[in-house]
Amino acid sequence: MSFHNIAGNGHVKKILRLALQRQRVPNSLLFSGPDGVGKRETALVLAKALNCLRETDDSCDVCVNCRAIDNGNFPDVIEIAPERDVIKVEQMPIIKQMAYLKPMIGRKRVFIVDRADKMNDESGNSVLKVLEEPPLFSHIILISDNQAFILPTIKSRCQTLNFLPVAKEEIEQALRGLGFEEEKARIMALLVRGNLERAKALDWDDIQQRRREAWSLFLALIGQEGSSSFLRKFAFQRRNVVKEDLEQTLEFFSSFCRDLLLMKEGGPAGLLFNPDYERLLRDTEPVLGLDQALRWLGLIDQAVANLDRNLNMNLLVSSFTSQVLG
Ligand SMILES: [Zn+2]
Repeated sequence: MSFHNIAGNGHVKKILRLALQRQRVPNSLLFSGPDGVGKRETALVLAKALNCLRETDDSCDVCVNCRAIDNGNFPDVIEIAPERDVIKVEQMPIIKQMAYLKPMIGRKRVFIVDRADKMNDESGNSVLKVLEEPPLFSHIILISDNQAFILPTIKSRCQTLNFLPVAKEEIEQALRGLGFEEEKARIMALLVRGNLERAKALDWDDIQQRRREAWSLFLALIGQEGSSSFLRKFAFQRRNVVKEDLEQTLEFFSSFCRDLLLMKEGGPAGLLFNPDYERLLRDTEPVLGLDQALRWLGLIDQAVANLDRNLNMNLLVSSFTSQVLG
């Protein structure tokens, strides 16, 4: 894998490639951002690019060094990960000792600390000095999806690169690159909030089932008689049980609304999110007016945003329902 096959986060890749071209890659780095957006992959590509025998600002993936790093047997690239959810102080000496020794076969020694927020205070404090002044031939990359749990003394010693969720279009493209059909990739990209890893793990049969359920709820809401089934399903459940389910249902609602709007505008069927629902959508299209469809879309987007803001879920679901029907 090289920079150009990592989906999304173009801004991070650009910064790193420029730094590689100028041979100014910071020696202490923190890759921060949500889960599943390619932080570890990017760290590995950077480790390869720093040691690649052919390229200067990317990995070639074919030279001996790139291949050895991919296979996990390059002695100068060392990964550290939590053991039983903690990175213990006993795991840190390898960084403290090896960082000061010249690389054995590569140009640069690279330490990748995955889920660095799992370092306890003792582990974190033990590497402050090396993070403060790492030798020029050593790079330490900390990876975290929970920056709030990283000690401020560590953060201040690292250059932070903030990763963002991968855009839907980029997820769709990545899934198609993995061999998913266009229609499936488009739907799957809708459901994962920019988390490519989650997209890869989705089960298509399960998605079909969830979409069928979402469609019946959607029809019931349009028909004005079905608010109770929507409320029953989502309003009175424990938040952690239904949050993801509600999020996906709302994303499906959003895709249905967009498809209905596309039909109203006479757009090409090839752009439908749910082309396999075309007949059902055509039957439903006259029932939901243009203004209403636009208003629903706004309310759905708002509800998804409110889910992120951790608002009370019963309230959110009840108020969404009453507004949609209002
Ligand atoms: Zn190479």
